[in-house]
Amino acid sequence: MIYRPIYPPSILGVMGSGQLGRMFTHSAAKLGYQVHCYSPIFDSPTKYAGATEFVGKYTDLNKLGEFLDSVDALTFEFENIPEEALLFIEEYIETEGLRVFPSPKVIRISNNRETEKNFFRKIGIPVTNFLSLQGKFTDINKLSDIKFPAILKTNQFGYDGKGQRKYSTREEFLTDLISITNFDHILEEEVPFDIEISVIGARFPNGKIVTYPASKNIHKNHILDLTIHPANISEKLKKEAEEHTKNLLEKIDYIGVLGLEFFLKDDLLLGNEFAPRPHNSGHFTMDSANFSQFDLQVLCLTGIVDDLSLKTFPSVMKNMVGDEFFKEKETLKKLIENSEYYIHLYQKKEVISGRKMGHINYLGEFKDNLFLF
Ligand code: AMP
Repeated sequence: MIYRPIYPPSILGVMGSGQLGRMFTHSAAKLGYQVHCYSPIFDSPTKYAGATEFVGKYTDLNKLGEFLDSVDALTFEFENIPEEALLFIEEYIETEGLRVFPSPKVIRISNNRETEKNFFRKIGIPVTNFLSLQGKFTDINKLSDIKFPAILKTNQFGYDGKGQRKYSTREEFLTDLISITNFDHILEEEVPFDIEISVIGARFPNGKIVTYPASKNIHKNHILDLTIHPANISEKLKKEAEEHTKNLLEKIDYIGVLGLEFFLKDDLLLGNEFAPRPHNSGHFTMDSANFSQFDLQVLCLTGIVDDLSLKTFPSVMKNMVGDEFFKEKETLKKLIENSEYYIHLYQKKEVISGRKMGHINYLGEFKDNLFLF
C-alpha cells in the first residue's frame, strides 16, 4: 500500500493525554502540526503542551467520533483502551479512510500478554517459559511444566508490575488457585536475569526501519528508574536485540514507533513485552539523539520522510517519580542551573507516590551518585 505524505499544517490525533502525548505534541509542533488528544482526563499534560483536548470515556463512541472527525491521522500514547473503542476506530479506517498508525490489530496483540508472547515465539524471539491460565484452572498436572518461583500476570491492563504476583513455590500457588475462578492470566517462570535492556525502533509507511542501539534499564519498585544508553553489552548482543526489533516491526506490519523490552541472561535475550508507542526507556533520545523517538512518531505517522539515519550519544535518563525531586524547591533549582542536566517536567497537577512527574537526561557516561543533590 502506498501512503501519501501528510504535510503540515494538518491535525494529528493522539489517543491518550499523558506525558507521552505531551512529548509527541512538542515534536509535532516543531514541524508545524497541530495535535488533538482524546482521553477521560481534563487539563492533561498533553493539553498543556498545546494540544486541543477532547474529553470523554473511551467507550463514549459519540465523543470519540467527534474527535476522530477532527483529525487527519491518528496515533496512540496510551494503548490500554477497550475493544469497543478499537472496533470503532477500525470502522473509521474502513469507512472514512482515516490513517491510524499503529493499527488496532497491533494494539490488540500488545494488549494481551499471552497473544504477545505467542507472537514473539512464532517469529523467533525467545520468551520465558509460561503457562496460559483461562477460566477455572483445574488441570493441575500442567503445573509440572513450570519451574517456581513463578509470576502470575494478568493478560490485560497490567503495567509497571501491576496485576502481578510472585509465587515462590508450587504449593503457595496451589493454595491460591482454589479461590481464583476466572483466570485470564499467564504463569511465567521467574528469570534470574543479569540485566534488562530495551530497543526503540520505528518503521516508516514505506517499510524502512530504523532502530536506536539497545539501552540498559534499572527498575525501582517495579517502575523504571534509570536508562543507561547505550547498554554495556557485546556488539553481537546489541545487533541481535536490534535484529529482533526489526523482525517484530516487519512481521507485525508495524508503522510507527515501538519499544521492545528484553531480559538478558548470560548470552540469551528473552523478549518480555513491547509497547506500541514511544517508550519510557527511549526518553534519552530527546537530548542525545539527532531525532527523538517522538520526532520519529510524527514522521512515521505523517510519512513526510521515508528514511533517515539515527545518531545517538552516551546518556543516562532518570525518572522523577513521586515527590523525589519536589520536596525541596532548591533541588529543582540545582538541576535547572546545571548545564549537564536536561529536565522535562510533565505539568501534572498533583504529586502522587509512584507517579511519573518528569525525567532528567544527563549527557555522558553513567557514574554513581549522578542524581544525588
Ligand atoms: P512486566 O510488566 O512484564 O514488564 O514486568 C515488570 C517488571 O517485573 C519487569 O521489568 C521485571 O523487572 C520484572 N519481571 C517481570 N517478569 C519477570 C520474569 N519472568 N522474571 C523476572 N522478573 C520479571
